Amino acid sequence: MKCKKCGERAAIKMPQHNMALCREHFLEWIPQHTQRVIEKYHMFTPKEKILVAVSGGKDSLALWDVLQRLGYQADGIYINLGITDPQSGLTYSAKSKIFSQQFADQHGLKLHVVDVKETYGESITEINQRSTRGRAKPCSICGLVKRHIMNQIAHDEGYHVLATGHNLDDEAATLFGNTLNWTVDMLKRQSPLLPAMPGFARKAKPFCRIYERESAAYALMRNIAYVYEECPFAGGARSIQYKKLLNQLEKRSPGTKMNFYVHFLKAQAELFGEEKTAIPLEEHCPICGQPTHSGQACAFCRLVGADKK
Ligand code: SF4
Ligand code: ZN
Repeated sequence: MKCKKCGERAAIKMPQHNMALCREHFLEWIPQHTQRVIEKYHMFTPKEKILVAVSGGKDSLALWDVLQRLGYQADGIYINLGITDPQSGLTYSAKSKIFSQQFADQHGLKLHVVDVKETYGESITEINQRSTRGRAKPCSICGLVKRHIMNQIAHDEGYHVLATGHNLDDEAATLFGNTLNWTVDMLKRQSPLLPAMPGFARKAKPFCRIYERESAAYALMRNIAYVYEECPFAGGARSIQYKKLLNQLEKRSPGTKMNFYVHFLKAQAELFGEEKTAIPLEEHCPICGQPTHSGQACAFCRLVGADKK
């Protein structure tokens, strides 16, 4: 198989795009493709300040790498959740932090590090243990904490937009699950770009049209060291199953995942209306100042016990 651009030996075959590329041209193509997505969905401009949510994994580090190569002002935020694998006892968060910091140092980039335990007195695992006695996975708690911290830093440090490394496989699997269950609220909001609301930063997914294997190949070819393990709570049985099913379809018919996602985005407004944001929250938490439904302590402040101090 030869590179479509130069005829040299191809390093990656991409049947979904009906092309193969050599290393050099693949490393050019990923930023070009990402730039087209940024422009298509009006995500941000070079004048704006971007905060990249960095987990130490391949997608977020590859995204950060691409954004800095494209000349964007992109800083990172790493949230040390304090997660350990209950089975192996391995400290997933500690490893992720090392890779995130190493990438920032190598490229001379600014990384905000927020340690949940140091800041709020308990790690995500401990908060989960206290509030659910470990009966539930910590993901909903973790999501709430991450959202709160990212919005806070984006607001306090004047970032215009928060960028996450969600790739096409993530988006297609989420869409698949939401469609199977007809979760209309989620289907309405699934978007490459969520506009800002008072107290909440704009959110962009510049890798939403990059396949997971493309992002992994990019990280590998750029020698980006990243944490291989996923969070021990990642990929509930369902989302892993959805990804497997979609991969089977993709194998038989390359481009299936892309079509599923992109055609959904085209039909979305017709199916569910233009509105992407939830009803704006008019009240503010008296403790942290972030928007809430009522004028009382927000869900985050209640979770970390800030309302009792
Ligand atoms: Fe948090 Fe769950 Fe993601 Fe792990 S898998 S980082 S617990 S949301
Ligand atoms: Zn609050």
